Amino acid sequence: MAHWPDLASRSRELYERGLKVLPGGITRTLPWQEPFPVYASYGEGAYVVDVDGTRRLDLLNNFASLIHGHAHPGVVQAVRHQVGNGTAFTLPTEQEVALAETLCGRAESFEQVRFCNSGSEAVMSAIKAARAITGRSKIVKAEGVYHGAYDYAEVSLDSSPSNWGEDPNSIGYSKGVPKGVTDDVVVIPFNDVEASERIIRANAADIAAVLLDAAPSYLGFIQVSPRFTDMIERVTREIGALFILDEVISFRSHTGGAQTLLGIHPDLTTLGKIIGGGFPVGAVAGRRELMQIYDHRQGKPGLPWSGTFTANPVTMTAGKVTLDLLDDSAIDRMAQLTSRLVGALNQAFARSGFPGQVTGFGSSFMVFGHQRQVTDYRSGYSSPEETKRVVALQRALTLAGFHIARTGKAFLSTPMTEADIESFISAVSRIVDARLEPVGAGVVS
Ligand SMILES: *Cc1c(COP(=O)(O)O)cnc(C)c1O
Repeated sequence: MAHWPDLASRSRELYERGLKVLPGGITRTLPWQEPFPVYASYGEGAYVVDVDGTRRLDLLNNFASLIHGHAHPGVVQAVRHQVGNGTAFTLPTEQEVALAETLCGRAESFEQVRFCNSGSEAVMSAIKAARAITGRSKIVKAEGVYHGAYDYAEVSLDSSPSNWGEDPNSIGYSKGVPKGVTDDVVVIPFNDVEASERIIRANAADIAAVLLDAAPSYLGFIQVSPRFTDMIERVTREIGALFILDEVISFRSHTGGAQTLLGIHPDLTTLGKIIGGGFPVGAVAGRRELMQIYDHRQGKPGLPWSGTFTANPVTMTAGKVTLDLLDDSAIDRMAQLTSRLVGALNQAFARSGFPGQVTGFGSSFMVFGHQRQVTDYRSGYSSPEETKRVVALQRALTLAGFHIARTGKAFLSTPMTEADIESFISAVSRIVDARLEPVGAGVVS
């Protein structure tokens, strides 16, 4: 039987069909790899089986959104029941109240919640809320940090030495971004307290919000320093701007999110990924007096916000069951496995002379193809050769039965066992010991 990447495989056949009707053959670029992506058939727990019957340990977990892996029996049962009762209503439901109650019990700054359908929407909504509350237009974000697909949140996501400047320039992410967008985004260097404070203060009167991720995925999940968050809290208060913490991905690091773990005090928080239990979701959470901006009861709210599938009871049901199953011990266990994995991979790299490193936070980690200490976007920035090293490792892992992202990012889930983690560590060790050559420069096995 043919397997990926054989030309006779089912994945190849689906890719050929996809090419005719989908630009580039696929909808998400994340799973792309040469010569064509692996197509999923079904998932069970920590594993996903592809359309050719190959089973792999899934360290992608739908990019960090499946905290309990695939098809957790508790989630499946609750969702099945809900689907039989209807999947979406214009009317509000108990399920929406229940998930909001669960979330509000999890972090001190969550007094009320507004739901939406993705993390990108949550970031868009929080930025619009901050603008409506402050009457100002500019937002501040850190260079190279991902916050979803809203134009403003994407600014300077992939700056390069050719355009990033001394103080970070504000650079549109795609072609055709209006100048108004880049004019309204102030870019700061992550974790650089003095430079960031100076840049923020120079724009003080126009700033609606500072948007921050406590452990940005694109920077290898390095943690924000307490000095940096103290500065953001102090300066936003002084200049009358809001502090938005983007916890779409970092919420998996503690039952109360990175803010509870690290003692951060945001005004608004954006959520997504795990809180939907495997279904599309986003949310903005924050203090009651700020969340009033969404309240329609006195006429048109400061920020009108709705959506056809918003707070649908399937997502709300799956999210509630998922969070109820996620306690401190489950999170601690994943964090311990992750730190063991990170340590073991770094040792394996050192032993074999593989010029890379692994960084991580909570249950997330990232492989870099260089050994410079990563403290911000610029120190983490990889050359094409360094990037190829990670791509070659990812490809070899796909062949060995493991899914990680081509960018080197990966995530644990609760069904992963010690044996799963040990087998992953051995596979990486074998691959780096074999001194793999970058894709295109030689044979990868
Ligand atoms: C994934 C992610 C988003 C975007 O969420 P989507 O649901 O993919 O739109 C925003 N911010 C962060 C930090 C994320 O990791």
